[in-house]
Amino acid sequence: MPRPIKATIDLSALQHNFGMVRRHAPRASVFAVIKANAYGHGLLRAARSLAGADGYALLELDAAVRLRDAGWTKRLALLEGVFEASELRVAAEHDLTIVIHNPEQLRMLDGARSGVSFDVLLKVNTGMNRLGFTPRAAIDAREKLKKHPAVKQLTLMTHFATADDARGVAWQMKVIDEIAAGQQLQRCLANSAAILRYPETHADWVRPGIMLYGCTPFADVPARELGLKPVMTLTSAIIAVQELQAGERIGYAGTFEATQPMRVGVVACGYADGYPRHAPTGTPIVVGGQRTRTLGRVSMDMLCADLSAIPAARVGTPVTLWGEGLSADEVAAAAGTVSYELLCALAPRVPVIEA
Ligand SMILES: *Cc1c(COP(=O)(O)O)cnc(C)c1O
Repeated sequence: MPRPIKATIDLSALQHNFGMVRRHAPRASVFAVIKANAYGHGLLRAARSLAGADGYALLELDAAVRLRDAGWTKRLALLEGVFEASELRVAAEHDLTIVIHNPEQLRMLDGARSGVSFDVLLKVNTGMNRLGFTPRAAIDAREKLKKHPAVKQLTLMTHFATADDARGVAWQMKVIDEIAAGQQLQRCLANSAAILRYPETHADWVRPGIMLYGCTPFADVPARELGLKPVMTLTSAIIAVQELQAGERIGYAGTFEATQPMRVGVVACGYADGYPRHAPTGTPIVVGGQRTRTLGRVSMDMLCADLSAIPAARVGTPVTLWGEGLSADEVAAAAGTVSYELLCALAPRVPVIEA
């Protein structure tokens, strides 16, 4: 038997979640966000399943080229635009939609060969202070791009910093509304949190990421309550069982000490598979269909699970790390991170199968 770890990708769940985007934003076109290898789910696999989308959004130029080569003819947006002039030529050859978020990218566009033209997303910094033109500079850029010979379609874009928490989106919407006022320009604004919580952000194009993959963008609302289904399920199995006596410790640094005799299952999954090393003792895990907790340090190839309440567990008993039956959001919360990080970190050595 091979090492028992695998990731199962449920394509029907992916399609279901895409349907939830349509349900929430029925009038918007959808850029399905498939950056970072589709949040760890596999670029081409996810793209194939999301073929109902109006476009894909990602960061990696080579991935965009691969999608064009695979026959995708709808919009393909580069969320950070291009990084140097030579990439602009590649973007032109493949008819990519480019974000322009800084003056350097504007200058690259000025230097583009005559005859080429792009769909451009002009990124406005409405308060997140990561990418984009300040509101004042955005108005100048907007005017320039509206009549730029290398621009065939101009869309205004921004990104919300707090759509998932109590601050909401109004403070950023006010800024983008001012830049869009009186203009016949399309707008592309909403991430998953804004799609789910703020219909006023839907505008012309939405950019769902995490909700497509069945996880929640909110710390306080589980994915299940949002009607989302997990797409990636990471499973493995018990490969050894240890009987600890009171006072014995387990794993590197012996951070967990048994206070009474107990059984511990050693699971074939570690941080080299993408499981977070900082997940503490007590992180939820499912063994033989029953919820239990991890114990001690996560090591490179293994972690330990408490079998005290699961007497039937033995070598070969299946384990779910996250996915169906245990949401990645919950595991992430226990480890002090977000599901995005767990999904993206799935290691190349983990075999992936489709269901
Ligand atoms: C990643 C990303 C998204 C998707 O965000 P989710 O929270 O996963 O929905 C949308 N827009 C931009 C610019 C992004 O970088």
